Amino acid sequence: MNKQTIYMIHGTDYKRMAMKIMESAGVAEEIGSAEKRVVLKPNLVAATPPSQGGTTHAELLAGAVEYLQQHGFNNIAIIEGSWVGEITPNAYRTAGYDRVCREYHVPFIDLQKDSYQTYEAAGMQIKVCDQAMKADYIINMPVLKGHCQTLITCALKNAKGMIPNSEKRRFHSLGLHKPIAHLNTVVHPGFILVDNICGDLDFEEGGNPVTMNRVLGFRDPVLCDTFVCESMGYDIDEVPYIGMAEALGVGSTKLDEAEIVMLNQPEKGATGKASSRRTQQLAGYTAPKDACSACYGSLIYALNRLNDYRMLKRGLPPIDIGQGYRGMPGEIGIGACTSCHNHSLKGCPPKAVDIVDFLQEEWIGQR
Ligand code: SF4
Repeated sequence: MNKQTIYMIHGTDYKRMAMKIMESAGVAEEIGSAEKRVVLKPNLVAATPPSQGGTTHAELLAGAVEYLQQHGFNNIAIIEGSWVGEITPNAYRTAGYDRVCREYHVPFIDLQKDSYQTYEAAGMQIKVCDQAMKADYIINMPVLKGHCQTLITCALKNAKGMIPNSEKRRFHSLGLHKPIAHLNTVVHPGFILVDNICGDLDFEEGGNPVTMNRVLGFRDPVLCDTFVCESMGYDIDEVPYIGMAEALGVGSTKLDEAEIVMLNQPEKGATGKASSRRTQQLAGYTAPKDACSACYGSLIYALNRLNDYRMLKRGLPPIDIGQGYRGMPGEIGIGACTSCHNHSLKGCPPKAVDIVDFLQEEWIGQR
């Protein structure tokens, strides 16, 4: 797998989707010898079920473990330390990881209780847990979601779960961005399997999930987080740790040089689904008809940005989206399916960052 390749798969059979992405990316071949120690690092920030948008789905872990075991790997562990204030085993049970560990006979290691060493991290001294640093290969499994301080969180920030609690507190006192960038000069995941199933609008622990039903694969955490910015409607300059990590040589923000390998096409399914009061309010500006989850989720993220800018107002015409609009005339629509509308944004699915620009110009700006 090229470092600039992005793998994307849509659907609801999350376990199979994880396996298919890893197979397509050739993860087993890349790891090499079956004797290697492979650790999976999900996001178990707090004791909230993955359906709330804060934690990695257990089905993705099951898929990753099954894929590895099918390829002869048996020295596997799941490692994670929840945020300060949460007891990791509570989060582990709430997310259903106990069932995965039992079914596949894989240990879970609570990094809040792990020993650690201090490492030189491009000019900073950073403590990192031993179980992470002893691994031969790390599979980073973050959730693509919003964050109340850093705006987005995905691959780069998920590395923070591999440091002791005392270091997490210090990171916050340093403003998060700089230490996150430096931490990623020390911790090097081989593969990044992103849970883009239903990440939160803007809170790390979930509560306002946005259904996308998508799983992504990357090798470059900087490229991954750059993609996340576009998917949620942010400019990368709004998330300083991404540019800092690039400057330290962790990866590249050059999305235009990346190849996106679509393992299937988006599926219909999200129409009208809004799982919290906030997403319901945003959904009130839309008129979905057989919309694919990834398309509709991108629109919800874009509307959330416009809401941040205080641009949403009463009296705006509903935004059409979905396969039910194919060939139909209309006022304003998002995605290739609305190409017969007076104002339509191309893309299948379009990115949230493009939807934000389009709606400012063609929807709000016209009224
Ligand atoms: S443009 Fe149409 S087919 Fe493509 S993702 Fe959107 S709703 Fe689905």
